[in-house]
Amino acid sequence: MSVLPLRNPATGETFGSVTEASPAQVDAAVAKARLAFEAWSATSLSERLRYLTRLRHYLVEHGEELAEKISQATGKVTIEAYMTEIFVTADTIRFYEKHAPQMLAAQPVPTPLVLWPKKSYIHYKPMGVIAVISPWNYPFQLAIIPMLSALVAGNTVILKPSEVTPSTGLLIEELFAVAGLPEGVVTVLHGGREVGSRLVAARPDKIFFTGSAATGKKIMAAAAEHLIPVSLELGGKDPMIVFEDANLERAANGAIWGAFTNSGQVCMSVERLYVHERVYPEFLRLVTEKTKALRQRFPAQAEVGSMTSREQLGIVRAHIEEALAAGAKAVTGGLPQTDSMFIPPTILTDVTPDMKIMREETFGPVLPIMTFSDEAEAIRLANESPYGLNASVWSSDKQRAQRVAEKLLSGNVCINDVIISYANPHLPFGGVKESGIGRYRGPAGLQAFTHSISVIHDPGSKKREFNWYPYTEDQQLMFSGLTRFLYGKRPKWDRPTLKAIWRELKRLR
Ligand code: NAD
Repeated sequence: MSVLPLRNPATGETFGSVTEASPAQVDAAVAKARLAFEAWSATSLSERLRYLTRLRHYLVEHGEELAEKISQATGKVTIEAYMTEIFVTADTIRFYEKHAPQMLAAQPVPTPLVLWPKKSYIHYKPMGVIAVISPWNYPFQLAIIPMLSALVAGNTVILKPSEVTPSTGLLIEELFAVAGLPEGVVTVLHGGREVGSRLVAARPDKIFFTGSAATGKKIMAAAAEHLIPVSLELGGKDPMIVFEDANLERAANGAIWGAFTNSGQVCMSVERLYVHERVYPEFLRLVTEKTKALRQRFPAQAEVGSMTSREQLGIVRAHIEEALAAGAKAVTGGLPQTDSMFIPPTILTDVTPDMKIMREETFGPVLPIMTFSDEAEAIRLANESPYGLNASVWSSDKQRAQRVAEKLLSGNVCINDVIISYANPHLPFGGVKESGIGRYRGPAGLQAFTHSISVIHDPGSKKREFNWYPYTEDQQLMFSGLTRFLYGKRPKWDRPTLKAIWRELKRLR
């Protein structure tokens, strides 16, 4: 069994290790979770929510300490660890405490008159064992929020956290121990892609995956072998469109936060900025000035920390290098050093749509800027991407902003803001195109961890139904007459149909 070192990417310091799960341990964990499912799925929702409340209290009491540990695992500044990992998780728990009872309650739906006196409803049933496979960029909340959603819905959970930030996997394991969940309800399996693919092969009842599109495709292919349902939260190349009537000061502040927060390692980072040519010079002046004022160090009194993954550093470097070689200019930052995990916030101008920096997910603190001349061009450029996770539109014209927002091929759109749609737990979150399949958060996101079972209920007092055997000529007359009456151009009853219905009604009693 191999061992994963626990390392702070910002300082290079190693502070322990964790042993990867063996194939036998993966199989045993799935079997144990399956066993625990029976009792856990039979608990009441209020009982399950009580465990979450306990977790929320712990998060609030130990928030600073937890944020420091997340910073240590990722190199992100502590304020960001607190805001985007601890606060968001506590907020999501509160959302479930308030709204899960309604979101998971049986939903009555109308039943057409022809089916009278039946009644219909949808019942949300837990699925079984949910495998959560998570990435390294927000290693805490992107693991724990799907886990909590699965648990609330009555499932048991196995987490395979990212091997790049294994100390956060340990942190989550400790946290669930504090919550005191029954044995087997939550298991954390540490390790890399071999552990992940063994977990998929162990046939969980659903896979909730967050990570790259490349891995998402592999997981979906493996899951297809056993028709295991998947939710895929994948990468992005999010566009930001700044119109000439936007509040430029706000747009510039939003652009640099959207591009550089978490060192740009956000699936919803601003990775392509399109600004109207008329305001380009002023906008460029503002973003340049503001970027130069950013402080970069670890872990406090700074806006930008270090990169988390050395592998990603190589990708960011290659994108910048290719762009500069093809004529792009670095207004701030530039080609990062190979031996430092700190990439200075970089603004690139003179970029073209064919450059990798405008096509592929960069996942680093780089803001490439292009101009456009009209609305149609902005929409075309924004939609020219295999991804569609988030996008933003900046304009003081409400109609125009909404019109453009609705034309963008993107799972989420922010108007006059960036990234923030994720912060509203009422809004479903997810991508289109290569950014993913399925939604989490919002009612749809919680129900995604259930089978929605359609139930139709007849009082059972009649001895037969109109559509049952033995077939008669009256049934034929009745159905063709009904079809004409209900769905025809000129609805009109005719005597033979009415008589047939009368005789059939008598047959039911
Ligand atoms: P990744 O795809 O390399 O790894 C993600 C997880 O999958 C890790 O735990 C890894 O060990 C596991 N894994 C790798 N190969 C596997 C296999 N064959 N079978 C099973 N598991 C396997 O992604 P990453 O580099 O950790 O994360 C960065 C990516 O995640 C970016 O593309 C980013 O945009 C995306 N992301 C998406 C969202 C979203 O909500 N849409 C959020 C954050 C990150």
